Amino acid sequence: MPEEKLPSRDENYSEWYNTIVQRAELADYAPVRGCMVVRPYGWALWENIQQALDRRFKATGHMNAAFPLLIPMSFLEKEKDHVEGFAPELAIVTIGGGEKLEEPLVVRPTSETIIGYMYSKWIKSYRDLPVLINQWGNVVRWEMRTRLFLRTLEFYWQEGHTAHATSHEAEEETLRMLGVYTDFAENDGAIPVIPGRKSETEKFAGAVNSYSIEAMMGDGRALQSGTSHFLGQNFAKAFDIQYLDNNNQLQHCWTTSWGLSTRFIGAIIMTHGDDQGLVLPPKLAPIQCIIIPIYKNDEEKSKVMSVVEQVAEELKDFRIKIDTREEVTPGFKFNDWEMRGVPLRIEIGPKDVEKDTVAFARRDMPGRAGKSFVPRVQLAAQVAEMLQSIQASLYEKALAFRNANTHSPENYTELAEVVEKGFAYTWWCGSLECETKVKEDTKATTRCIPLKLPDGEGKCIVCGKPARQKVYIGRAY
Ligand SMILES: [Zn+2]
Repeated sequence: MPEEKLPSRDENYSEWYNTIVQRAELADYAPVRGCMVVRPYGWALWENIQQALDRRFKATGHMNAAFPLLIPMSFLEKEKDHVEGFAPELAIVTIGGGEKLEEPLVVRPTSETIIGYMYSKWIKSYRDLPVLINQWGNVVRWEMRTRLFLRTLEFYWQEGHTAHATSHEAEEETLRMLGVYTDFAENDGAIPVIPGRKSETEKFAGAVNSYSIEAMMGDGRALQSGTSHFLGQNFAKAFDIQYLDNNNQLQHCWTTSWGLSTRFIGAIIMTHGDDQGLVLPPKLAPIQCIIIPIYKNDEEKSKVMSVVEQVAEELKDFRIKIDTREEVTPGFKFNDWEMRGVPLRIEIGPKDVEKDTVAFARRDMPGRAGKSFVPRVQLAAQVAEMLQSIQASLYEKALAFRNANTHSPENYTELAEVVEKGFAYTWWCGSLECETKVKEDTKATTRCIPLKLPDGEGKCIVCGKPARQKVYIGRAY
Protein backbone atom coordinates (compact mmCIF):
# COMPACT_ATOMS: atom_id res chain seq x y z
CA MET A 1 0.00 0.00 0.00
CA PRO A 2 1.53 3.31 -1.03
CA GLU A 3 1.45 5.84 1.77
CA GLU A 4 -0.51 9.02 1.53
CA LYS A 5 1.23 11.90 -0.22
CA LEU A 6 3.13 14.35 1.94
CA PRO A 7 1.61 17.80 2.40
CA SER A 8 3.03 20.25 -0.13
CA ARG A 9 6.09 22.08 1.16
CA ASP A 10 5.16 25.38 -0.44
CA GLU A 11 1.50 25.30 0.51
CA ASN A 12 1.80 24.20 4.11
CA TYR A 13 5.36 24.32 5.32
CA SER A 14 4.55 23.67 8.93
CA GLU A 15 2.36 20.63 8.22
CA TRP A 16 4.98 19.38 5.77
CA TYR A 17 7.65 19.62 8.47
CA ASN A 18 5.63 17.85 11.16
CA THR A 19 4.62 15.04 8.80
CA ILE A 20 8.18 14.40 7.63
CA VAL A 21 9.56 14.25 11.17
CA GLN A 22 7.08 11.54 12.04
CA ARG A 23 6.85 9.64 8.79
CA ALA A 24 10.62 9.44 8.35
CA GLU A 25 10.67 8.13 11.94
CA LEU A 26 13.03 10.79 13.22
CA ALA A 27 11.02 11.62 16.33
CA ASP A 28 7.64 11.24 17.97
CA TYR A 29 5.59 13.03 20.59
CA ALA A 30 6.03 11.95 24.20
CA PRO A 31 3.27 11.51 26.80
CA VAL A 32 4.40 14.74 28.51
CA ARG A 33 3.39 17.71 26.36
CA GLY A 34 6.37 19.34 24.69
CA CYS A 35 8.74 16.42 25.20
CA MET A 36 10.19 14.49 22.31
CA VAL A 37 11.11 10.88 21.68
CA VAL A 38 14.04 10.67 19.29
CA ARG A 39 13.62 7.48 17.28
CA PRO A 40 16.56 5.34 16.10
CA TYR A 41 16.80 6.94 12.63
CA GLY A 42 16.78 10.42 14.17
CA TRP A 43 19.26 9.38 16.83
CA ALA A 44 21.61 7.92 14.19
CA LEU A 45 21.55 11.32 12.50
CA TRP A 46 22.27 13.00 15.84
CA GLU A 47 25.16 10.57 16.46
CA ASN A 48 26.72 11.60 13.16
CA ILE A 49 26.31 15.25 14.13
CA GLN A 50 27.91 14.47 17.49
CA GLN A 51 30.88 12.73 15.90
CA ALA A 52 31.45 15.52 13.40
CA LEU A 53 31.45 18.11 16.20
CA ASP A 54 33.32 16.05 18.76
CA ARG A 55 36.17 15.55 16.31
CA ARG A 56 36.43 19.31 15.93
CA PHE A 57 36.23 19.94 19.69
CA LYS A 58 39.07 17.50 20.36
CA ALA A 59 41.14 19.01 17.55
CA THR A 60 40.81 22.41 19.26
CA GLY A 61 42.01 21.03 22.59
CA HIS A 62 38.78 20.26 24.45
CA MET A 63 37.91 17.22 26.56
CA ASN A 64 34.51 15.83 27.50
CA ALA A 65 33.18 15.49 31.04
CA ALA A 66 29.78 15.00 32.69
CA PHE A 67 28.14 17.25 35.28
CA PRO A 68 24.93 16.55 37.25
CA LEU A 69 21.39 17.06 36.01
CA LEU A 70 20.27 18.62 39.30
CA ILE A 71 21.53 22.03 40.38
CA PRO A 72 20.82 23.79 43.71
CA MET A 73 18.36 26.65 43.12
CA SER A 74 20.70 29.04 44.95
CA PHE A 75 23.36 28.52 42.26
CA LEU A 76 21.15 30.04 39.59
CA GLU A 77 20.36 32.99 41.82
CA LYS A 78 24.03 33.94 42.07
CA GLU A 79 24.08 35.52 38.61
CA LYS A 80 21.28 38.08 38.41
CA ASP A 81 20.71 38.20 34.65
CA HIS A 82 21.07 34.45 34.38
CA VAL A 83 18.30 33.66 36.86
CA GLU A 84 16.04 36.39 35.46
CA GLY A 85 16.45 35.01 31.96
CA PHE A 86 15.83 31.41 32.90
CA ALA A 87 13.31 31.70 35.77
CA PRO A 88 10.19 31.35 33.57
CA GLU A 89 11.54 28.16 31.98
CA LEU A 90 12.73 26.28 35.05
CA ALA A 91 11.59 22.84 36.17
CA ILE A 92 12.13 22.65 39.92
CA VAL A 93 12.32 19.55 42.10
CA THR A 94 10.96 20.10 45.60
CA ILE A 95 10.45 16.54 46.78
CA GLY A 96 13.08 13.79 46.82
CA GLY A 97 12.74 10.30 48.27
CA GLY A 98 9.30 11.23 49.59
CA GLU A 99 10.59 14.16 51.64
CA LYS A 100 10.38 17.87 51.04
CA LEU A 101 13.85 19.10 50.14
CA GLU A 102 15.58 21.74 52.25
CA GLU A 103 16.65 23.52 49.09
CA PRO A 104 14.79 23.14 45.80
CA LEU A 105 16.79 21.66 42.95
CA VAL A 106 16.64 22.86 39.39
CA VAL A 107 16.71 20.44 36.47
CA ARG A 108 19.52 22.04 34.48
CA PRO A 109 18.42 24.46 31.78
CA THR A 110 22.14 24.94 31.01
CA SER A 111 25.18 24.29 33.18
CA GLU A 112 27.17 27.52 33.62
CA THR A 113 26.42 27.61 37.36
CA ILE A 114 27.27 24.05 38.37
CA ILE A 115 30.34 24.02 36.15
CA GLY A 116 31.38 27.45 37.46
CA TYR A 117 31.10 26.13 41.00
CA MET A 118 33.35 23.17 40.16
CA TYR A 119 35.84 25.37 38.32
CA SER A 120 36.20 27.50 41.45
CA LYS A 121 37.39 24.36 43.25
CA TRP A 122 39.67 23.14 40.47
CA ILE A 123 41.35 26.34 39.35
CA LYS A 124 44.05 27.67 41.66
CA SER A 125 46.85 29.09 39.56
CA TYR A 126 47.52 30.46 36.10
CA ARG A 127 49.13 27.09 35.42
CA ASP A 128 45.67 25.46 35.61
CA LEU A 129 44.43 27.60 32.73
CA PRO A 130 42.88 27.41 30.27
CA VAL A 131 40.27 24.83 31.26
CA LEU A 132 38.59 23.53 28.10
CA ILE A 133 35.68 21.18 28.82
CA ASN A 134 32.66 20.06 26.83
CA GLN A 135 29.63 18.12 28.01
CA TRP A 136 27.20 16.08 25.90
CA GLY A 137 23.84 15.88 27.60
CA ASN A 138 20.26 17.01 27.85
CA VAL A 139 18.64 20.04 29.42
CA VAL A 140 15.10 21.07 30.33
CA ARG A 141 13.51 24.41 29.52
CA TRP A 142 9.78 24.68 30.17
CA GLU A 143 8.73 25.97 26.77
CA MET A 144 5.06 26.73 26.17
CA ARG A 145 4.97 26.44 22.39
CA THR A 146 6.90 23.43 21.24
CA ARG A 147 7.81 21.83 17.93
CA LEU A 148 9.72 18.56 17.43
CA PHE A 149 13.47 19.31 17.26
CA LEU A 150 13.00 23.08 16.96
CA ARG A 151 11.76 23.83 20.43
CA THR A 152 11.11 21.05 22.90
CA LEU A 153 10.82 21.00 26.65
CA GLU A 154 13.80 18.69 26.91
CA PHE A 155 16.48 18.60 24.27
CA TYR A 156 19.88 17.07 23.63
CA TRP A 157 22.96 19.15 23.03
CA GLN A 158 26.54 19.80 23.85
CA GLU A 159 27.67 22.65 26.03
CA GLY A 160 31.28 23.77 26.08
CA HIS A 161 32.54 25.68 29.12
CA THR A 162 35.97 27.22 29.25
CA ALA A 163 37.94 29.37 31.68
CA HIS A 164 40.86 31.61 30.72
CA ALA A 165 43.40 33.93 32.28
CA THR A 166 42.64 36.92 30.07
CA SER A 167 39.70 38.57 28.42
CA HIS A 168 41.49 38.38 25.10
CA GLU A 169 41.95 34.60 25.30
CA ALA A 170 38.31 34.06 26.27
CA GLU A 171 37.11 36.23 23.40
CA GLU A 172 39.37 34.32 21.04
CA GLU A 173 37.89 31.04 22.28
CA THR A 174 34.33 32.36 21.80
CA LEU A 175 35.05 33.19 18.18
CA ARG A 176 37.07 30.01 17.60
CA MET A 177 34.05 27.89 18.57
CA LEU A 178 31.75 30.04 16.45
CA GLY A 179 34.16 29.19 13.64
CA VAL A 180 33.94 25.49 14.49
CA TYR A 181 30.14 25.65 14.26
CA THR A 182 30.32 27.53 10.97
CA ASP A 183 32.71 24.96 9.52
CA PHE A 184 30.54 22.08 10.71
CA ALA A 185 27.25 23.59 9.47
CA GLU A 186 28.62 24.44 6.04
CA ASN A 187 30.88 21.48 5.35
CA ASP A 188 28.98 18.66 7.05
CA GLY A 189 25.43 20.00 7.18
CA ALA A 190 25.67 21.68 3.74
CA ILE A 191 23.89 24.62 5.37
CA PRO A 192 25.26 28.09 4.63
CA VAL A 193 25.24 30.16 7.82
CA ILE A 194 25.90 33.73 8.83
CA PRO A 195 28.20 33.96 11.84
CA GLY A 196 27.67 37.12 13.84
CA ARG A 197 27.05 38.88 17.15
CA LYS A 198 23.63 39.01 18.78
CA SER A 199 22.03 42.29 19.84
CA GLU A 200 21.71 43.15 23.55
CA THR A 201 18.13 41.89 23.66
CA GLU A 202 18.87 38.64 21.86
CA LYS A 203 21.95 37.64 23.85
CA PHE A 204 22.27 34.84 26.39
CA ALA A 205 21.19 35.60 29.96
CA GLY A 206 24.43 36.40 31.78
CA ALA A 207 26.69 36.89 28.77
CA VAL A 208 28.72 39.98 27.85
CA ASN A 209 28.49 39.10 24.18
CA SER A 210 26.65 36.30 22.40
CA TYR A 211 27.40 35.08 18.91
CA SER A 212 25.39 32.76 16.72
CA ILE A 213 25.28 31.09 13.37
CA GLU A 214 22.05 31.94 11.57
CA ALA A 215 20.63 29.84 8.74
CA MET A 216 17.78 30.50 6.33
CA MET A 217 15.17 27.77 6.21
CA GLY A 218 13.26 26.76 3.06
CA ASP A 219 10.40 29.15 3.90
CA GLY A 220 12.74 32.12 4.28
CA ARG A 221 12.66 32.15 8.07
CA ALA A 222 15.76 32.20 10.25
CA LEU A 223 16.95 29.43 12.52
CA GLN A 224 19.61 30.17 15.13
CA SER A 225 21.63 27.00 14.74
CA GLY A 226 24.42 27.30 17.30
CA THR A 227 25.61 29.87 19.84
CA SER A 228 28.86 30.90 21.47
CA HIS A 229 29.00 33.25 24.45
CA PHE A 230 31.70 35.44 25.92
CA LEU A 231 30.71 35.54 29.60
CA GLY A 232 33.34 38.05 30.71
CA GLN A 233 33.88 37.72 34.46
CA ASN A 234 30.16 37.52 35.29
CA PHE A 235 30.13 33.87 36.27
CA ALA A 236 33.70 33.96 37.59
CA LYS A 237 32.65 36.67 40.06
CA ALA A 238 29.40 34.92 40.97
CA PHE A 239 31.24 31.66 41.68
CA ASP A 240 34.66 32.90 42.79
CA ILE A 241 36.52 31.32 39.91
CA GLN A 242 39.91 32.82 40.74
CA TYR A 243 43.54 32.09 40.04
CA LEU A 244 46.90 33.34 41.24
CA ASP A 245 48.71 35.04 38.37
CA ASN A 246 52.48 34.87 37.93
CA ASN A 247 52.88 37.86 40.26
CA ASN A 248 51.00 35.94 42.93
CA GLN A 249 48.00 38.23 42.59
CA LEU A 250 44.49 36.78 42.83
CA GLN A 251 42.53 37.33 39.58
CA HIS A 252 39.07 36.38 38.36
CA CYS A 253 38.95 34.10 35.33
CA TRP A 254 37.25 34.95 32.04
CA THR A 255 34.79 32.31 30.86
CA THR A 256 32.92 31.20 27.75
CA SER A 257 30.15 28.78 26.90
CA TRP A 258 28.90 27.47 23.57
CA GLY A 259 26.23 25.03 22.46
CA LEU A 260 24.62 23.28 19.54
CA SER A 261 21.54 21.09 19.95
CA THR A 262 19.17 18.61 18.31
CA ARG A 263 17.62 21.75 16.84
CA PHE A 264 20.21 21.34 14.12
CA ILE A 265 18.22 18.33 12.87
CA GLY A 266 15.34 20.76 12.31
CA ALA A 267 17.72 22.95 10.32
CA ILE A 268 18.70 20.02 8.10
CA ILE A 269 15.08 19.07 7.45
CA MET A 270 13.97 22.61 6.66
CA THR A 271 16.99 23.61 4.58
CA HIS A 272 17.19 20.62 2.26
CA GLY A 273 13.83 18.84 2.34
CA ASP A 274 11.42 18.82 -0.62
CA ASP A 275 7.94 17.56 -1.56
CA GLN A 276 9.21 13.97 -1.58
CA GLY A 277 10.48 14.28 1.99
CA LEU A 278 13.82 14.52 3.70
CA VAL A 279 17.05 15.22 1.84
CA LEU A 280 20.05 14.40 4.01
CA PRO A 281 23.59 15.65 3.41
CA PRO A 282 25.78 12.59 2.68
CA LYS A 283 28.27 13.44 5.43
CA LEU A 284 25.60 13.17 8.13
CA ALA A 285 23.10 10.72 6.61
CA PRO A 286 22.63 7.55 8.71
CA ILE A 287 22.34 5.63 5.43
CA GLN A 288 24.37 7.04 2.54
CA CYS A 289 23.39 4.46 -0.08
CA ILE A 290 20.34 2.29 -0.22
CA ILE A 291 20.77 -0.74 -2.47
CA ILE A 292 17.58 -2.02 -4.05
CA PRO A 293 17.61 -5.42 -5.75
CA ILE A 294 15.04 -5.79 -8.52
CA TYR A 295 13.80 -9.19 -9.75
CA LYS A 296 10.63 -10.97 -10.80
CA ASN A 297 11.36 -14.62 -10.11
CA ASP A 298 13.69 -16.89 -8.19
CA GLU A 299 16.10 -17.31 -11.07
CA GLU A 300 16.52 -13.53 -11.43
CA LYS A 301 16.68 -13.20 -7.68
CA SER A 302 19.69 -15.50 -7.29
CA LYS A 303 21.62 -13.72 -10.06
CA VAL A 304 20.76 -10.27 -8.76
CA MET A 305 21.44 -11.06 -5.11
CA SER A 306 24.88 -12.45 -5.81
CA VAL A 307 25.81 -9.16 -7.50
CA VAL A 308 24.16 -7.18 -4.70
CA GLU A 309 26.36 -8.98 -2.19
CA GLN A 310 29.49 -8.20 -4.18
CA VAL A 311 28.47 -4.55 -4.45
CA ALA A 312 27.80 -4.37 -0.72
CA GLU A 313 31.27 -5.76 -0.07
CA GLU A 314 32.86 -3.19 -2.39
CA LEU A 315 30.97 -0.40 -0.62
CA LYS A 316 31.60 -1.57 2.93
CA ASP A 317 33.34 1.70 3.88
CA PHE A 318 30.12 3.63 3.30
CA ARG A 319 26.99 3.58 5.43
CA ILE A 320 24.88 1.28 3.24
CA LYS A 321 21.75 -0.78 3.56
CA ILE A 322 20.20 -3.41 1.31
CA ASP A 323 16.43 -3.31 1.14
CA THR A 324 15.49 -6.98 0.99
CA ARG A 325 11.82 -6.55 1.82
CA GLU A 326 9.69 -9.00 -0.21
CA GLU A 327 6.26 -7.64 0.69
CA VAL A 328 6.60 -4.30 -1.10
CA THR A 329 7.37 -3.33 -4.70
CA PRO A 330 10.59 -1.65 -5.86
CA GLY A 331 8.53 1.48 -6.63
CA PHE A 332 7.34 1.61 -3.04
CA LYS A 333 10.92 1.23 -1.84
CA PHE A 334 12.09 4.08 -4.07
CA ASN A 335 9.49 6.42 -2.57
CA ASP A 336 10.12 5.20 0.94
CA TRP A 337 13.88 5.87 0.88
CA GLU A 338 13.40 9.13 -0.95
CA MET A 339 11.07 10.20 1.85
CA ARG A 340 13.77 9.23 4.37
CA GLY A 341 16.31 11.35 2.53
CA VAL A 342 18.93 8.74 1.65
CA PRO A 343 21.38 10.58 -0.65
CA LEU A 344 22.03 7.80 -3.17
CA ARG A 345 19.94 4.88 -4.37
CA ILE A 346 21.61 2.02 -6.21
CA GLU A 347 19.30 -0.21 -8.22
CA ILE A 348 20.44 -3.60 -9.43
CA GLY A 349 18.19 -5.64 -11.75
CA PRO A 350 18.66 -8.56 -14.19
CA LYS A 351 19.60 -6.20 -17.05
CA ASP A 352 22.24 -4.53 -14.91
CA VAL A 353 23.67 -7.94 -14.08
CA GLU A 354 23.88 -8.79 -17.79
CA LYS A 355 25.53 -5.49 -18.72
CA ASP A 356 27.70 -5.34 -15.63
CA THR A 357 26.26 -1.98 -14.65
CA VAL A 358 24.28 -0.50 -11.79
CA ALA A 359 21.80 2.37 -11.76
CA PHE A 360 22.43 5.43 -9.58
CA ALA A 361 19.62 7.74 -8.52
CA ARG A 362 20.65 10.81 -6.57
CA ARG A 363 18.15 12.16 -4.05
CA ASP A 364 18.94 15.82 -4.66
CA MET A 365 17.80 15.56 -8.31
CA PRO A 366 14.39 13.90 -8.48
CA GLY A 367 13.31 12.00 -11.58
CA ARG A 368 15.33 11.29 -14.70
CA ALA A 369 17.81 14.11 -14.21
CA GLY A 370 19.28 12.35 -11.21
CA LYS A 371 19.51 8.93 -12.77
CA SER A 372 22.61 7.42 -14.36
CA PHE A 373 23.86 3.97 -15.34
CA VAL A 374 27.42 3.29 -14.40
CA PRO A 375 29.76 0.40 -15.19
CA ARG A 376 30.43 -1.81 -12.20
CA VAL A 377 34.14 -0.99 -11.98
CA GLN A 378 35.75 1.05 -9.24
CA LEU A 379 32.33 1.39 -7.72
CA ALA A 380 33.60 2.70 -4.39
CA ALA A 381 35.39 5.58 -6.12
CA GLN A 382 32.29 6.38 -8.15
CA VAL A 383 30.07 6.37 -5.06
CA ALA A 384 32.52 8.60 -3.19
CA GLU A 385 32.52 11.05 -6.07
CA MET A 386 28.75 11.00 -6.32
CA LEU A 387 28.29 11.63 -2.58
CA GLN A 388 30.73 14.54 -2.75
CA SER A 389 28.84 15.96 -5.66
CA ILE A 390 25.52 15.68 -3.78
CA GLN A 391 27.05 17.27 -0.68
CA ALA A 392 28.36 20.19 -2.74
CA SER A 393 25.17 20.71 -4.73
CA LEU A 394 23.02 20.77 -1.57
CA TYR A 395 25.18 23.57 -0.21
CA GLU A 396 25.14 25.50 -3.48
CA LYS A 397 21.38 25.20 -3.76
CA ALA A 398 20.83 26.40 -0.18
CA LEU A 399 23.25 29.29 -0.72
CA ALA A 400 21.55 30.34 -3.95
CA PHE A 401 18.19 30.25 -2.15
CA ARG A 402 19.51 32.38 0.70
CA ASN A 403 21.05 34.89 -1.68
CA ALA A 404 17.84 35.11 -3.69
CA ASN A 405 15.87 35.80 -0.50
CA THR A 406 18.21 38.27 1.17
CA HIS A 407 17.58 41.90 0.31
CA SER A 408 18.92 45.31 1.23
CA PRO A 409 15.74 47.35 1.61
CA GLU A 410 15.73 51.01 0.58
CA ASN A 411 13.29 52.14 3.25
CA TYR A 412 11.20 50.96 6.18
CA THR A 413 8.22 49.90 4.05
CA GLU A 414 10.48 47.70 1.96
CA LEU A 415 12.01 46.23 5.11
CA ALA A 416 8.58 45.08 6.25
CA GLU A 417 7.95 43.44 2.86
CA VAL A 418 11.32 41.75 2.65
CA VAL A 419 11.11 40.02 6.03
CA GLU A 420 7.81 38.40 5.06
CA LYS A 421 9.79 35.69 3.29
CA GLY A 422 13.47 36.29 3.72
CA PHE A 423 16.24 38.28 5.35
CA ALA A 424 16.82 42.00 5.30
CA TYR A 425 20.44 43.05 5.47
CA THR A 426 20.46 46.63 6.50
CA TRP A 427 22.02 49.52 8.46
CA TRP A 428 20.95 49.78 12.08
CA CYS A 429 21.85 52.46 14.61
CA GLY A 430 21.98 49.84 17.36
CA SER A 431 19.23 51.32 19.53
CA LEU A 432 16.71 49.22 21.39
CA GLU A 433 13.88 51.51 20.23
CA CYS A 434 14.51 50.79 16.56
CA GLU A 435 14.90 47.07 17.20
CA THR A 436 11.65 46.93 19.18
CA LYS A 437 9.74 48.88 16.55
CA VAL A 438 10.76 46.41 13.85
CA LYS A 439 9.73 43.49 16.03
CA GLU A 440 6.34 45.00 16.86
CA ASP A 441 5.58 46.01 13.28
CA THR A 442 6.84 42.95 11.45
CA LYS A 443 7.43 40.11 13.99
CA ALA A 444 10.98 40.00 12.64
CA THR A 445 13.96 40.21 14.97
CA THR A 446 17.59 41.13 14.56
CA ARG A 447 19.38 37.88 13.85
CA CYS A 448 23.01 38.90 14.04
CA ILE A 449 25.51 41.58 13.22
CA PRO A 450 27.86 39.74 10.87
CA LEU A 451 31.50 39.41 11.82
CA LYS A 452 32.58 40.83 8.49
CA LEU A 453 31.08 44.30 8.34
CA PRO A 454 31.29 46.57 5.32
CA ASP A 455 33.42 49.69 5.61
CA GLY A 456 31.88 53.10 6.12
CA GLU A 457 28.50 53.95 7.52
CA GLY A 458 24.92 54.38 6.43
CA LYS A 459 21.59 55.48 7.81
CA CYS A 460 19.50 53.39 10.21
CA ILE A 461 16.62 51.83 8.26
CA VAL A 462 14.23 52.73 11.08
CA CYS A 463 15.19 56.15 12.47
CA GLY A 464 17.51 57.46 9.74
CA LYS A 465 20.28 58.33 12.19
CA PRO A 466 23.87 57.48 11.28
CA ALA A 467 24.65 53.76 11.68
CA ARG A 468 28.01 52.02 11.67
CA GLN A 469 26.80 48.45 11.59
CA LYS A 470 24.66 46.34 9.35
CA VAL A 471 22.38 43.68 10.75
CA TYR A 472 20.43 40.71 9.42
CA ILE A 473 16.73 40.90 10.26
CA GLY A 474 14.28 38.07 9.75
CA ARG A 475 11.40 36.16 11.25
CA ALA A 476 12.82 33.36 13.30
CA TYR A 477 11.85 29.93 14.57
ZN1 LIG B 1 17.74 53.62 14.53
